[in-house]
Amino acid sequence: MSDTRHAYVTLVTNGDYAMGAVALVRSLRLTGTAADIVVLHTGGVEAEVLRPLSELGARLVEAELLPTSAEFNERHQRAKLHADAPFTKGEKPAFHTPLDNFAKLRLWQLSDYERVVFIDADALVIRNIDRLFSYPEFSAAPNVYESLADFHRMNSGVFVARPSQKTFEDMLARLDRPDAFWRRTDQTFLQTFFPEWHGLPVFYNTLQYVWFNLPGLWDWNSIKVVHYQYEKPWQKDHPKTRQLRPLIDLWQAYYTGEGIPDSDMLENPPDFA
Ligand code: UDP
Ligand code: MN
Repeated sequence: MSDTRHAYVTLVTNGDYAMGAVALVRSLRLTGTAADIVVLHTGGVEAEVLRPLSELGARLVEAELLPTSAEFNERHQRAKLHADAPFTKGEKPAFHTPLDNFAKLRLWQLSDYERVVFIDADALVIRNIDRLFSYPEFSAAPNVYESLADFHRMNSGVFVARPSQKTFEDMLARLDRPDAFWRRTDQTFLQTFFPEWHGLPVFYNTLQYVWFNLPGLWDWNSIKVVHYQYEKPWQKDHPKTRQLRPLIDLWQAYYTGEGIPDSDMLENPPDFA
Protein backbone atom coordinates (compact mmCIF):
# COMPACT_ATOMS: atom_id res chain seq x y z
CA MET A 1 0.00 0.00 0.00
CA SER A 2 1.45 3.37 -0.86
CA ASP A 3 2.00 5.97 1.80
CA THR A 4 1.31 9.41 0.37
CA ARG A 5 2.02 11.39 3.54
CA HIS A 6 5.69 10.58 3.65
CA ALA A 7 8.59 10.92 1.24
CA TYR A 8 12.28 10.31 0.98
CA VAL A 9 13.83 13.25 -0.85
CA THR A 10 17.20 13.68 -2.50
CA LEU A 11 18.79 16.37 -4.68
CA VAL A 12 20.56 16.14 -8.02
CA THR A 13 22.00 19.14 -9.88
CA ASN A 14 24.27 17.33 -12.35
CA GLY A 15 24.87 13.96 -13.99
CA ASP A 16 27.36 12.80 -11.36
CA TYR A 17 24.92 13.14 -8.49
CA ALA A 18 22.25 11.51 -10.69
CA MET A 19 24.50 8.42 -10.68
CA GLY A 20 24.64 8.63 -6.91
CA ALA A 21 20.86 8.86 -6.78
CA VAL A 22 20.46 5.68 -8.85
CA ALA A 23 22.23 3.65 -6.18
CA LEU A 24 20.36 5.48 -3.41
CA VAL A 25 16.92 5.02 -4.96
CA ARG A 26 17.58 1.35 -5.69
CA SER A 27 18.69 0.86 -2.08
CA LEU A 28 15.53 2.58 -0.79
CA ARG A 29 13.34 0.39 -3.00
CA LEU A 30 14.98 -2.71 -1.58
CA THR A 31 14.02 -1.64 1.96
CA GLY A 32 10.38 -2.20 0.94
CA THR A 33 9.27 1.31 1.90
CA ALA A 34 5.79 2.45 0.87
CA ALA A 35 6.75 6.13 1.06
CA ASP A 36 7.27 8.24 -2.07
CA ILE A 37 10.82 8.69 -3.32
CA VAL A 38 11.31 12.20 -4.67
CA VAL A 39 14.30 13.39 -6.67
CA LEU A 40 14.58 17.16 -6.76
CA HIS A 41 16.54 18.06 -9.87
CA THR A 42 17.59 21.28 -11.52
CA GLY A 43 16.65 22.04 -15.12
CA GLY A 44 20.12 21.39 -16.51
CA VAL A 45 20.24 17.70 -15.61
CA GLU A 46 19.85 15.65 -18.79
CA ALA A 47 16.72 13.55 -19.27
CA GLU A 48 18.88 10.56 -20.11
CA VAL A 49 20.55 10.43 -16.69
CA LEU A 50 17.21 10.96 -14.94
CA ARG A 51 15.46 8.12 -16.79
CA PRO A 52 16.85 5.27 -14.64
CA LEU A 53 15.50 7.14 -11.62
CA SER A 54 11.94 7.15 -12.98
CA GLU A 55 12.35 3.52 -13.96
CA LEU A 56 13.11 2.76 -10.33
CA GLY A 57 9.84 4.49 -9.45
CA ALA A 58 11.17 7.82 -8.22
CA ARG A 59 9.05 10.94 -8.59
CA LEU A 60 11.07 13.59 -10.44
CA VAL A 61 10.40 17.15 -9.30
CA GLU A 62 12.12 20.02 -11.03
CA ALA A 63 13.49 22.62 -8.63
CA GLU A 64 15.50 25.76 -9.23
CA LEU A 65 18.51 26.85 -7.25
CA LEU A 66 17.53 29.34 -4.57
CA PRO A 67 17.02 32.99 -5.56
CA THR A 68 20.03 34.15 -3.55
CA SER A 69 21.78 37.46 -4.25
CA ALA A 70 24.79 37.81 -6.56
CA GLU A 71 26.92 38.70 -3.49
CA PHE A 72 25.79 35.59 -1.65
CA ASN A 73 26.56 33.43 -4.70
CA GLU A 74 29.98 35.03 -5.03
CA ARG A 75 30.87 34.32 -1.38
CA HIS A 76 29.86 30.66 -1.78
CA GLN A 77 31.42 30.13 -5.18
CA ARG A 78 33.56 26.97 -5.19
CA ALA A 79 37.09 28.41 -5.49
CA LYS A 80 36.33 31.19 -3.03
CA LEU A 81 34.76 28.87 -0.45
CA HIS A 82 37.65 26.41 -0.75
CA ALA A 83 40.10 29.31 -0.17
CA ASP A 84 38.21 30.92 2.71
CA ALA A 85 37.23 27.68 4.50
CA PRO A 86 39.66 24.99 3.27
CA PHE A 87 38.83 21.29 3.53
CA THR A 88 41.71 19.68 5.40
CA LYS A 89 40.34 16.18 6.11
CA GLY A 90 39.33 14.99 2.65
CA GLU A 91 38.75 16.12 -0.93
CA LYS A 92 35.60 17.31 -2.64
CA PRO A 93 35.21 16.10 -6.23
CA ALA A 94 35.43 18.64 -9.06
CA PHE A 95 31.72 18.09 -9.85
CA HIS A 96 30.70 19.35 -6.39
CA THR A 97 29.36 22.92 -6.53
CA PRO A 98 28.87 24.20 -2.96
CA LEU A 99 26.17 26.71 -3.91
CA ASP A 100 23.96 23.88 -5.24
CA ASN A 101 23.76 22.34 -1.75
CA PHE A 102 21.42 25.10 -0.59
CA ALA A 103 18.73 23.86 -3.01
CA LYS A 104 18.03 21.12 -0.43
CA LEU A 105 15.97 23.73 1.39
CA ARG A 106 13.37 23.44 -1.40
CA LEU A 107 12.09 20.28 0.27
CA TRP A 108 10.28 22.55 2.74
CA GLN A 109 8.09 23.53 -0.22
CA LEU A 110 6.82 19.95 -0.65
CA SER A 111 3.96 20.72 1.68
CA ASP A 112 1.74 17.87 0.45
CA TYR A 113 3.87 15.65 2.68
CA GLU A 114 3.57 15.63 6.47
CA ARG A 115 7.16 14.49 6.93
CA VAL A 116 10.11 13.98 4.69
CA VAL A 117 13.45 12.33 5.24
CA PHE A 118 16.14 14.02 3.18
CA ILE A 119 19.07 11.85 2.10
CA ASP A 120 22.14 13.05 0.17
CA ALA A 121 22.56 11.48 -3.27
CA ASP A 122 25.90 9.99 -2.13
CA ALA A 123 24.33 7.63 0.43
CA LEU A 124 22.93 4.07 0.57
CA VAL A 125 20.08 2.88 2.76
CA ILE A 126 20.96 -0.62 3.95
CA ARG A 127 17.90 -1.25 6.15
CA ASN A 128 14.39 0.16 6.36
CA ILE A 129 14.30 3.56 8.11
CA ASP A 130 10.57 4.35 7.82
CA ARG A 131 10.42 4.87 11.58
CA LEU A 132 12.08 8.25 10.98
CA PHE A 133 8.77 9.56 9.61
CA SER A 134 7.45 9.66 13.16
CA TYR A 135 10.47 11.62 14.42
CA PRO A 136 10.25 15.37 14.97
CA GLU A 137 11.69 18.19 12.93
CA PHE A 138 14.64 18.68 13.06
CA SER A 139 16.36 15.33 13.57
CA ALA A 140 19.85 14.57 12.25
CA ALA A 141 22.93 12.60 13.23
CA PRO A 142 26.19 14.15 14.43
CA ASN A 143 29.04 14.67 11.96
CA VAL A 144 31.18 11.89 13.40
CA TYR A 145 34.13 10.56 11.42
CA GLU A 146 37.28 11.24 13.40
CA SER A 147 36.99 12.21 17.06
CA LEU A 148 34.71 13.02 19.99
CA ALA A 149 34.74 16.71 19.08
CA ASP A 150 32.75 15.74 15.98
CA PHE A 151 29.67 15.26 18.18
CA HIS A 152 29.33 19.04 18.43
CA ARG A 153 28.28 19.32 14.81
CA MET A 154 25.48 17.71 12.88
CA ASN A 155 25.72 16.27 9.39
CA SER A 156 23.07 17.37 6.90
CA GLY A 157 23.27 14.26 4.71
CA VAL A 158 20.27 12.64 6.46
CA PHE A 159 17.56 14.56 8.30
CA VAL A 160 13.87 14.58 9.19
CA ALA A 161 11.85 17.68 8.27
CA ARG A 162 8.27 18.90 8.17
CA PRO A 163 7.59 20.72 4.89
CA SER A 164 6.04 24.16 5.25
CA GLN A 165 6.11 27.12 2.87
CA LYS A 166 6.35 29.43 5.87
CA THR A 167 9.46 27.66 7.18
CA PHE A 168 10.93 27.84 3.68
CA GLU A 169 10.38 31.61 3.54
CA ASP A 170 11.79 32.11 7.04
CA MET A 171 14.85 30.18 5.94
CA LEU A 172 15.40 32.27 2.83
CA ALA A 173 15.18 35.47 4.89
CA ARG A 174 17.72 34.13 7.36
CA LEU A 175 20.05 32.62 4.78
CA ASP A 176 20.88 35.56 2.57
CA ARG A 177 21.72 38.40 4.91
CA PRO A 178 24.46 40.91 4.12
CA ASP A 179 27.87 39.26 4.54
CA ALA A 180 26.39 35.87 5.53
CA PHE A 181 28.97 33.15 4.89
CA TRP A 182 27.95 29.54 5.63
CA ARG A 183 31.30 27.76 5.56
CA ARG A 184 29.81 24.27 5.21
CA THR A 185 26.83 25.57 3.26
CA ASP A 186 23.42 24.01 4.09
CA GLN A 187 24.96 22.07 6.97
CA THR A 188 26.16 25.16 8.84
CA PHE A 189 22.93 26.95 8.01
CA LEU A 190 20.64 24.16 9.23
CA GLN A 191 22.55 23.75 12.47
CA THR A 192 22.18 27.51 13.07
CA PHE A 193 18.50 27.53 12.09
CA PHE A 194 17.73 24.51 14.33
CA PRO A 195 20.14 24.98 17.27
CA GLU A 196 18.13 22.45 19.32
CA TRP A 197 18.36 19.73 16.63
CA HIS A 198 17.41 16.25 17.83
CA GLY A 199 20.26 13.78 17.66
CA LEU A 200 19.84 10.54 15.72
CA PRO A 201 22.22 7.64 16.35
CA VAL A 202 25.23 7.77 14.02
CA PHE A 203 23.97 4.57 12.40
CA TYR A 204 21.34 6.63 10.55
CA ASN A 205 24.16 8.49 8.81
CA THR A 206 27.39 6.51 9.04
CA LEU A 207 30.13 8.49 7.34
CA GLN A 208 32.55 6.48 5.23
CA TYR A 209 35.67 7.76 7.03
CA VAL A 210 34.48 5.96 10.19
CA TRP A 211 35.56 2.80 8.35
CA PHE A 212 39.26 3.65 8.76
CA ASN A 213 39.32 6.36 11.46
CA LEU A 214 36.98 4.77 14.03
CA PRO A 215 36.66 1.12 12.96
CA GLY A 216 35.46 0.13 16.43
CA LEU A 217 32.30 2.19 15.85
CA TRP A 218 31.49 0.40 12.59
CA ASP A 219 28.86 -2.30 13.11
CA TRP A 220 26.91 -3.62 10.13
CA ASN A 221 24.28 -5.05 12.46
CA SER A 222 23.32 -1.52 13.50
CA ILE A 223 24.07 0.52 10.39
CA LYS A 224 21.09 1.75 8.40
CA VAL A 225 22.62 4.41 6.15
CA VAL A 226 26.15 4.64 4.74
CA HIS A 227 27.11 8.12 3.56
CA TYR A 228 30.08 8.64 1.22
CA GLN A 229 31.13 12.09 2.40
CA TYR A 230 34.11 13.76 0.64
CA GLU A 231 35.33 11.45 -2.18
CA LYS A 232 32.55 9.66 -4.11
CA PRO A 233 32.45 5.91 -4.82
CA TRP A 234 31.87 6.50 -8.55
CA GLN A 235 35.03 8.60 -8.98
CA LYS A 236 37.51 6.64 -11.04
CA ASP A 237 40.39 6.89 -8.63
CA HIS A 238 40.53 8.98 -5.53
CA PRO A 239 43.06 9.26 -2.70
CA LYS A 240 41.09 6.95 -0.36
CA THR A 241 40.22 4.20 -2.88
CA ARG A 242 42.50 1.62 -1.30
CA GLN A 243 41.28 2.25 2.26
CA LEU A 244 37.60 2.25 1.26
CA ARG A 245 37.59 -0.66 -1.22
CA PRO A 246 34.86 -2.78 0.47
CA LEU A 247 32.53 0.24 0.75
CA ILE A 248 33.17 1.22 -2.87
CA ASP A 249 32.38 -2.32 -4.01
CA LEU A 250 29.16 -2.21 -2.00
CA TRP A 251 28.13 1.05 -3.68
CA GLN A 252 28.91 -0.41 -7.13
CA ALA A 253 26.65 -3.38 -6.40
CA TYR A 254 23.74 -1.05 -5.59
CA TYR A 255 24.51 1.11 -8.62
CA THR A 256 24.52 -1.77 -11.08
CA GLY A 257 21.94 -3.85 -9.23
CA GLU A 258 24.26 -6.86 -9.47
CA GLY A 259 25.61 -8.82 -6.53
CA ILE A 260 23.96 -6.79 -3.77
CA PRO A 261 24.97 -8.62 -0.60
CA ASP A 262 22.58 -9.55 2.19
CA SER A 263 22.97 -6.89 4.91
CA ASP A 264 23.46 -9.62 7.52
CA MET A 265 26.47 -10.98 5.63
CA LEU A 266 28.61 -7.82 5.50
CA GLU A 267 32.01 -7.87 7.19
CA ASN A 268 33.12 -5.20 9.63
CA PRO A 269 36.41 -3.36 8.94
CA PRO A 270 39.67 -4.78 10.18
CA ASP A 271 40.49 -3.10 13.47
CA PHE A 272 43.27 -0.71 12.57
CA ALA A 273 43.86 0.18 16.23
N1 UDP B 1 24.56 18.21 -4.62
C1 UDP B 1 24.32 18.24 -5.98
N2 UDP B 1 25.20 18.92 -6.80
C2 UDP B 1 26.31 19.53 -6.33
C3 UDP B 1 26.57 19.51 -4.95
C4 UDP B 1 25.67 18.83 -4.12
O1 UDP B 1 23.34 17.67 -6.46
O2 UDP B 1 27.08 20.09 -7.14
C5 UDP B 1 23.61 17.52 -3.71
C6 UDP B 1 23.73 15.99 -3.70
O3 UDP B 1 22.48 15.45 -3.27
C7 UDP B 1 24.80 15.79 -2.63
C8 UDP B 1 24.40 16.83 -1.60
O4 UDP B 1 23.89 17.93 -2.37
O5 UDP B 1 24.80 14.48 -2.12
C9 UDP B 1 25.55 17.33 -0.71
O6 UDP B 1 26.81 17.33 -1.35
P1 UDP B 1 27.90 16.20 -1.05
O7 UDP B 1 27.17 14.94 -0.74
O8 UDP B 1 28.86 16.13 -2.18
O9 UDP B 1 28.64 16.74 0.24
P2 UDP B 1 29.43 15.88 1.36
O10 UDP B 1 28.50 14.80 1.83
O11 UDP B 1 30.67 15.35 0.71
O12 UDP B 1 29.71 16.89 2.43
MN1 MN C 1 26.95 13.75 1.01
